Amino acid sequence: MEQHALRHLIHSVASAVIAHAEQLTALDQAIGDGDHGINMKRGCEAVLADLDRLAAHALPAALKATGTVLVMKVGGASGPLYGTLFMTMGKELPEAPSHADVVRAFGAAIEAVRKLGKSDAGQKTLLDVLLPVHAELAAGAQDFATRLPRRAAEAAEATVPMKAIRGRASFLGERSIGHMDPGARSAALMVAALCAALAPEDKP
Ligand code: ADP
Ligand code: MG
Repeated sequence: MEQHALRHLIHSVASAVIAHAEQLTALDQAIGDGDHGINMKRGCEAVLADLDRLAAHALPAALKATGTVLVMKVGGASGPLYGTLFMTMGKELPEAPSHADVVRAFGAAIEAVRKLGKSDAGQKTLLDVLLPVHAELAAGAQDFATRLPRRAAEAAEATVPMKAIRGRASFLGERSIGHMDPGARSAALMVAALCAALAPEDKP
């Protein structure tokens, strides 16, 4: 990936998260401690502040470096989880990945998140977006820019009736039912921004 395209990609994803910080915080106020938007905004602002350095790398090293910034700056439960997602993608992807490479690397990255969080599908976490998006991606590359964000939005919506089994929201037990998981929402936002930036008609 060319440097300006990579820069556009990182910038788009970080900016989308920052633009939705208040919404993420509101979701976390309902079933957590109300810091998810603040955490993610802090991490993404650090990514933007470091954009020149991050985008100067080839794709794998850029992903690893971005993951490291997220681990250091986001904090909370989500920082190490998102950091691990990006760092593992960086470790697993070649410099010019094929669709099959992306499917495999994304799968490995989700597996690393699952191990770290001791979590799985159906527990009302960001995995409930990442796993279905991975399945949708594995089904084929065509029209990914419309299919993946749609699947991500549906999957985030599907966390509303779930009872939280992991993370702070699990302390609420049954009372976690009826609210969208904040991490699921931030994951869906990132998928949408990533796809928009990679969409053929949006190439810078
Ligand atoms: P904290 O819960 O420490 O306040 P954040 O508010 O930033 O951290 O992030 C909360 C989000 O992190 C949750 O909405 C959920 O999606 C995700 N999360 C928390 N714990 C886990 C876990 N064990 N496995 C997967 N995701 C988790
Ligand atoms: Mg929180």
